[in-house]
Amino acid sequence: MQTTEFIWFDGKLVPWKEAQVHVLTHALHYGSAVFEGIRAYKCADGTSAVFRLQEHAQRLINSGKILRLEIPYTAEQIADGIIETLKANKLAEGYIRPLSFVGLGEMGVYPGNNPVNTIIAVWSWGAYLGPEALEQGIRAKTSSFARMHVNTHMSKAKSAGNYVNSILAKIEAKEEGYDEAVMLDTSGFVSEASGENIFMVRNGIIKTTPLTSVLGGITRESVIQVARDLGFTVEEQLFTRDELYIADEAFFTGTAAELTPIREVDRRQIGAGHAGPVTKQLQQAFFEVVKGKNPKYASWLSHYTF
Ligand SMILES: *Cc1c(COP(=O)(O)O)cnc(C)c1O
Repeated sequence: MQTTEFIWFDGKLVPWKEAQVHVLTHALHYGSAVFEGIRAYKCADGTSAVFRLQEHAQRLINSGKILRLEIPYTAEQIADGIIETLKANKLAEGYIRPLSFVGLGEMGVYPGNNPVNTIIAVWSWGAYLGPEALEQGIRAKTSSFARMHVNTHMSKAKSAGNYVNSILAKIEAKEEGYDEAVMLDTSGFVSEASGENIFMVRNGIIKTTPLTSVLGGITRESVIQVARDLGFTVEEQLFTRDELYIADEAFFTGTAAELTPIREVDRRQIGAGHAGPVTKQLQQAFFEVVKGKNPKYASWLSHYTF
């Protein structure tokens, strides 16, 4: 576990060890929590920058809105809290985890008047799927667990409850010797991974799954825009697992996973079995953007120093 000095807890920075909740916290029993995953990068100019801070802060508020979990902060206050927490911990690069959860009060399912607590934690975190994953690509397995139907858990909310499904898929994939799960929707089309969106490339055309059963990833949206700006055609379209098998290239996107190539799905090699040219080009462009090396996307970065 990564300890840091401070965690932002309901508006105040508290020492890491003191950021605790009671065991009867509603969210611990029923999954009534929403969260974000955000990254900060060291930039070429010596400052640090949070990637798409406003969009992440707004998505936290939106996730709360979807689940009727009233977060008593504005997106701006969350964004300010994030910068404050990064500075207090002197973290120049790493991962940021805001979480809003239904707190201690009534024990019934109905959250009633229970408080909604919010924390912001930060820690240093390298490549989520391992440093070699970004270069070599990873091996994925179609999960036996379907992604939730669009009318069950609400796929546009990044919620703790949704992650039961993700954990099932991730455990299965890992225990069977794979790195990540490709999850299908309840109609059998490719949806997303346990915490990443998925893209495939075939005959020069980039495809990603539409925003039906998937979370609207901010990395997904950023990569779509960067790819289009580079002149690629990007289609948001449903595709099947066997279309993925015969893709020239495939990759996952997410704040944690960044842009990770997929080199194998269900024991079928994808393309040449390592990151293909389109994936490499997009990956390089992505890292240039997040590290402040491409002025065209300067508005996506919130710089800070300490
Ligand atoms: C967080 C998440 C993603 C990736 O979203 P980003 O905004 O790119 O980090 C994709 N799928 C699921 C289920 C997620 O929870």
